[in-house]
Amino acid sequence: MKILVLNCGSSSAKYQFINMEDESVLASGVIERIGIDGAFLTHEPADGEEVTIENDIPDHNVAIKMVIDALLDDDHGVITDMDEIGAVGHRVVHGGENFSESVVIDDEVYDAIDDVKHLAPLHNPPNLLGIEVSQELMPDTPDVAVFDTAFHQTMPEKSYMYAIPYELYEDYGIRRYGFHGTSHKFVAGKAAELLDKPIEDLKIITCHLGNGASMAAVDGGKVMDTSMGLTPLEGLVMGTRCGDLDPAIVPFIMEKEDLDPKEVDNLLNKKSGVAGLSGVSNDFRDIGAAAEEGNERAQIAIDVFCQRVKKYIGSYSAVLGGVDIVVFTAGIGENAIEIRSQILEGLEYLGIKVDEEKNDIRGEDQIITTDDSDTVAAVLPTNEELVIARDTKELVE
Ligand code: ADP
Repeated sequence: MKILVLNCGSSSAKYQFINMEDESVLASGVIERIGIDGAFLTHEPADGEEVTIENDIPDHNVAIKMVIDALLDDDHGVITDMDEIGAVGHRVVHGGENFSESVVIDDEVYDAIDDVKHLAPLHNPPNLLGIEVSQELMPDTPDVAVFDTAFHQTMPEKSYMYAIPYELYEDYGIRRYGFHGTSHKFVAGKAAELLDKPIEDLKIITCHLGNGASMAAVDGGKVMDTSMGLTPLEGLVMGTRCGDLDPAIVPFIMEKEDLDPKEVDNLLNKKSGVAGLSGVSNDFRDIGAAAEEGNERAQIAIDVFCQRVKKYIGSYSAVLGGVDIVVFTAGIGENAIEIRSQILEGLEYLGIKVDEEKNDIRGEDQIITTDDSDTVAAVLPTNEELVIARDTKELVE
């Protein structure tokens, strides 16, 4: 079976077309600037050159039609008939409390995703649009929803409740949900494979450190706590998001800077994080280079980022009552060697001793602690698309 994995954002859509016989990617691509001037699709077949197709792409309907056309194209396509698309797996950001697993999409599921769109107003509406268009263009092909929040639904109340009036939870669903669930689930599973132990016997801390970043405390394969909250703004310091903050700062900034709720939300989501601190960039490659040249604010941004991750490792090992393995994944986790070192520095008390030679790698499965460390730290590259494709295959079969 071949599966199309779709990740629809408001002005962009990413896709991968995966052959589930051997889990190989047949083609992948992205459409950018949907509904904006200068829209284009970049499509890369596994055994061919990347092509860029500029087009007027007013909406998601045209966008997804272009994806299908690219897959069918005589030159750069990878299939000859639309029927070869066995199923479509959709990344859906927010499942609220309704979904603890992936599901085949029917009217009821669609409505349930629609019901929680207020919790992810930037993400769920374009996810729903992708589902609608997919059903319109491929009515006989099953669609599956894979939720960013699902893996975290095992969290106990004591981890997901906020200490604000209980009615706000009842009335608006204000609680911790957590995100990047597909990634945390994938690397937790890989950690168990790496240690060759059943996941049921392991205490795992997963660090998904990308432009968006979050951590999870996983006990016996179940999430006990995670750092993102009602929205992806909470927790770690990110590319442009502030992460944990004294909540009193929000009304304080609003008053001082004369900002309305939308503006302060924008400041904390888009202008903060390591970008806001450093004034250089949201990208750790740029910030690292600036710090090396003596830029103090860049160094502060790196230090604050690492300190936050370290703090969560400590708190999650307390939540779990110990830790067997700390996993690093996503753009920074997989590639930023010095950042990993800095985070793990001083964690010898937890049994973690970094082996700098082993740590000198990017983007491959590798244990980075010394053989005599009681606790393992490892780099395990994530693959969210593959999780979506696997869940989709399992459900439609
Ligand atoms: P997202 O999916 O959230 O956009 P990624 O997981 O792709 O993010 O991570 C992107 C980030 O990874 C970049 O912004 C950059 O900070 C970091 N990154 C990627 N490659 C490297 C590298 N070689 N060294 C340091 N950081 C890197």
